[in-house]
Amino acid sequence: EECRKVLTSEIKTFPDWPEKGVNFKDVQSILFNPELASITSHYLKELLPKNKKNEYEFNKILCFDARGFLFGFDLAKIANAPMILARKPGKLPGELITQTFQKEYGTDEIQVQEGLIKPGDKVLIHDDLLATGGTAGAAAEIILKCGAQIAGFNFIMDLTFLPGRKELQKYVPNHKIKAL
Ligand code: IMP
Repeated sequence: EECRKVLTSEIKTFPDWPEKGVNFKDVQSILFNPELASITSHYLKELLPKNKKNEYEFNKILCFDARGFLFGFDLAKIANAPMILARKPGKLPGELITQTFQKEYGTDEIQVQEGLIKPGDKVLIHDDLLATGGTAGAAAEIILKCGAQIAGFNFIMDLTFLPGRKELQKYVPNHKIKAL
């Protein structure tokens, strides 16, 4: 709650970028403020799913190109979990798993290297921001295709006026969708 207040007041918003009607929340303004970056990192860690024995309830963390990599790497280190990069087409080498998803206008794709997600894995999904849920949902589909489980979702920000959270409730119960 405290963290959300600080974030809401400190994060810089660019109106009508990258297109009219979008108010872009800029992670640069978190990273440029070391104290705010530390607070963000600390509270994101608090949101990681744990069991009753206080152990982390995931064994891998999947993060999105590019702003999801920043705090995602931080969380991966904290949990000592292997980190999986989900990227736009053309960025990753090797055999790939591709998932197409709906954007506001047209479709988009994300890719993950084959062999990183195994049946039985519990994968946590992290990104900087939840908007429509299209991106995070595509990662959830990849995880399911691999026969693994979705441990939960972890975001810095949730644009609550958009239906992202509702979209992701197809995959996990509401309490496993966490944002600051
Ligand atoms: P969604 O797929 O509509 O949920 O959009 C989420 C993706 O778009 C994330 O990877 C975000 O990094 C990016 N995104 C959308 N809106 C913003 C914003 O206001 N600030 C930063 N990233 C955004």
